[in-house]
Amino acid sequence: MLQIANLNFKYEPANAFALQNISFQVKKGEVISVIGESGSGKSTLLRLLYGLEDYDEGEIEWNNKKLKGPSFNIIPGHKMMKYVAQDYDLLDFVTVGENVGKFLSNFDLKTKQKQIDEALKIVDLLDLKDYFPNKLSGGQRQRVAIARALAQKPEILLLDEPFSNLDQSLKLSIREKIIDWCKENQITVIFTTHDLNDAFYTSDRILVLQKGEILQYGDVERVRESPTNSYVAKLFGYINLVEVGVFNKMKLSDIDHYNYYQLVYPEELWLNDDGEFIGEIINSSFQGRDYLIKLKYLDFELFTYYPYKLKKGLQIKFSIPNNRIIKS
Ligand code: ADP
Ligand code: MG
Repeated sequence: MLQIANLNFKYEPANAFALQNISFQVKKGEVISVIGESGSGKSTLLRLLYGLEDYDEGEIEWNNKKLKGPSFNIIPGHKMMKYVAQDYDLLDFVTVGENVGKFLSNFDLKTKQKQIDEALKIVDLLDLKDYFPNKLSGGQRQRVAIARALAQKPEILLLDEPFSNLDQSLKLSIREKIIDWCKENQITVIFTTHDLNDAFYTSDRILVLQKGEILQYGDVERVRESPTNSYVAKLFGYINLVEVGVFNKMKLSDIDHYNYYQLVYPEELWLNDDGEFIGEIINSSFQGRDYLIKLKYLDFELFTYYPYKLKKGLQIKFSIPNNRIIKS
């Protein structure tokens, strides 16, 4: 188990903490995604876990053993972890295969080749084994770096935006292969992402960072069902945030009125003839499987999905079968 307790960290000479009050636990074999807007501290968190920075206060423990920063280690970085940063740090004068095998033992060369091939297969790059990295695209280089980390079968794998450079079609299959392989091998994975779909499909839990602090940590379903506040809710893409009382009779005090919102997910806004509200269609945009419908109700622009295109200007009834109150 990875245990992080009360971690505080500041880049010198900055005044503000890049990370503050960070506490969470990860069990062996779990996949955790770290989400938050740019600058929220995602990369910094991975760097601290890996031991590239000295933290000011707090503790990081793996299986009850304390992990310290670079001042305490001759070579920064912990042995049982592998970290794939956003700059991939490949050697351009040796082949893709040699890059992937860089840290593997030469004791048994046959085994080494097998490990290299296995890792390259996971990221779908076996065909390019004998190429030189400088002939590859950014996304391919990123996959080589991931394969190099996988080949070493670490106990903990830290990936910084591992899927950000991949085309959508490739991303889905490679993401699944990497995560499945790590699950099979009981490798604990912590990765950062901007894309909540990455979290939905792969993660046991998501950790939401805002300005260096943990806003929420929990399984994906729970976080979506009850986001701590509107920052977390907005990570889920198209949502409807309205003032409390718009879709129910609830009344709040004046102060609370500004501190809370009503959150309605698109699938909780139903277009139907019995609906108690009437809105006007602003537009319908094709999303592949259905249409994202934007409608105007009072001063609000609301979103829902619908299987058919609806005409702009159409007056339409809708109902709100479910909603929740969250902090602003
Ligand atoms: P993210 O990965 O979520 O975009 P980072 O972890 O890179 O965020 O950055 C968190 C905060 O720390 C930001 O305010 C950023 O400007 C600051 N920061 C990052 N790296 C350094 C550095 N080497 N020196 C000083 N400040 C840094
Ligand atoms: Mg980053």
